[in-house]
Amino acid sequence: MRTPIIAGNWKMFKTVGESLQFVQDVKASAEVAGVVSVICAPYTVLPALVEAAKGTSLKIGAQNLHWEDNGAYTGEISGAMLKDLGVEYVIIGHSERRAYFAETDETVNKKVHAAFKHALVPIVCVGEKLEEREADLTKNVCLVQTKALFQGLSAEQAAQIVIAYEPIWAIGTGKSSTAEDANEVISYIRSVVADIYDSTTAQKVCIQYGGSVKPGNIREYMQQSDIDGALVGGASLEAASYTQLVEGAQ
Ligand code: PGA
Repeated sequence: MRTPIIAGNWKMFKTVGESLQFVQDVKASAEVAGVVSVICAPYTVLPALVEAAKGTSLKIGAQNLHWEDNGAYTGEISGAMLKDLGVEYVIIGHSERRAYFAETDETVNKKVHAAFKHALVPIVCVGEKLEEREADLTKNVCLVQTKALFQGLSAEQAAQIVIAYEPIWAIGTGKSSTAEDANEVISYIRSVVADIYDSTTAQKVCIQYGGSVKPGNIREYMQQSDIDGALVGGASLEAASYTQLVEGAQ
């Protein structure tokens, strides 16, 4: 009942020319039945990407937004602006934004509300640091972050959220969580959503795994009961490996 989503997170990579070449290279293969393909790109390439993706099944997302619609926030971009471009998804609370740009559980929640206000699908990141995993705090961290992100949302909104469970020690390190471990945490996150709302709502929430996902390991994650696709950094940058990820999620 949940459709898996492969979302590429390009981070601070690619010029307009490089992005257009990428769409050219993946557009035929992005049409894989039963998988949603999303590219979350830097702001500067979004207009060109939205245009290039028209008529394909590729969906375009941003990597952040501000919670206000407009105002004196130098350097920021609002949900209203993203919607105006035709963007459909937005990553919120990525661990790099939490670590380097002072993102907190409170700002994450404000941004989730802003995304819904502008009909953007939020892909909200949660996950523990290495020292938290070693101290057996993974579930506690995910509990706190998950409860915070859902604050003030209706069950109807909650069902549309995409969560990306990304253990921070697995991001860009080549050290991925085992598929079984990732599934256990993701099942736990789903149980937290069921506690906040109800099990019908929890069954609708798409929960991805993220952290060193590659064409070589995507199938292991997809075989798990609760993993609904992946949020992928490094391996989403090359057209060939992105294509293999989408195919592997089928
Ligand atoms: P990675 O990044 O796939 O390069 O580990 C994942 C992410 O940051 O979302």
